[in-house]
Amino acid sequence: MAIAQAARPGTSTDPTVMRAAVFHGPGDIGIESVPRPHAGPGEAVIRVTLTTICGTDVHILKGEYPVRPGLIVGHEPVGVIDELGPGVVGYEVGERVLVGAITPCGQCHACLSGHLSQCGHGSGYQAIGGWRFGNTIDGAQAEYLLVPYAQANLAKIPEGLTDEQVVLLADITSTGFAGAESGGVRIGDSVVVFAQGPIGLCATAGAKLMGAALVIGVDGDPGRREVARRMGADIVLDPGSVDVVAEVQRLTGGGADVAIEALGLQETFEAGLRSLRPGGTMSSLGVYSGKLQLPYDAFAAGLGDHTIVTTLCPGGKERMERLMRIVAAGRFDPTSLVTHRFALSDIADAYALFSERRDGVLKVAIRP
Ligand SMILES: [Zn+2]
Ligand SMILES: [Zn+2]
Repeated sequence: MAIAQAARPGTSTDPTVMRAAVFHGPGDIGIESVPRPHAGPGEAVIRVTLTTICGTDVHILKGEYPVRPGLIVGHEPVGVIDELGPGVVGYEVGERVLVGAITPCGQCHACLSGHLSQCGHGSGYQAIGGWRFGNTIDGAQAEYLLVPYAQANLAKIPEGLTDEQVVLLADITSTGFAGAESGGVRIGDSVVVFAQGPIGLCATAGAKLMGAALVIGVDGDPGRREVARRMGADIVLDPGSVDVVAEVQRLTGGGADVAIEALGLQETFEAGLRSLRPGGTMSSLGVYSGKLQLPYDAFAAGLGDHTIVTTLCPGGKERMERLMRIVAAGRFDPTSLVTHRFALSDIADAYALFSERRDGVLKVAIRP
């Protein structure tokens, strides 16, 4: 996958432009000089101090996840408030903030119904998923980021927390934890998490935080299984060497209470369903493409009282504040997931490393 090498146009000394990672077409994300955003009513601009690359960005780069050419990618922003538009109150320029990957308006039908991730920014519901940085609006792999509905989305970073401690909360932690929360994990439950990539690892940690008595992490990569143990998995299984469904059934005495799917494949979705006990909940975090089939016997032909829930990354400042509290309290430490660090100008190298999963990479930190 070739990535346009940075031409390094524009310097931060020119106040009208900034450097950003721009998508032009499959295989073509490059750093270039683009107009710097300014804050209109209700908006804010933050100077990005740290961001990262997500699996979704790799799908965008490969052309597997369509976005409009010219879009700035990246959806995990930490920064400092640089401009506040009219109507944004309770904030000051210079304050450090975390912004979730999805930006609910806090006012539309979706938001007021509690479906913040499906927010259509005032127009009810967005067609698929809410307004997402680097997907539907310009994103965070840039020197500056325009934040819509700033009042609902700027979460002040508590004193004492570093950028690296909070950057992963914007997406993967919010999503991974939501897998356990939406699955309704209860104290004493058994939970199996399919795939231990960054989101699956956070789902594993989330299940533990929710009070699961047994957390089983499934992944074919020995390095990721090892990290899964550190993130709270009691048992890890390699689908390449054991029949995972049979083993989960054996370990749980009849099936897991909750299965969390964090990969987005037919195989793992189906294995999750088959791992459940009657009455169990399948909590799906994967983004699926192509055809997803539901074999009748995988959910007891409809007689098993199973629940299937899906969750898109919860955003908004209340969510981010909640996640920062759990880090500040020392109950969850996402920093070990940041394995590599790059400057924004070297983001092509970061994309290559991340997409090829070299050197045990889990997440990369990108500093503009
Ligand atoms: Zn993401
Ligand atoms: Zn809304």
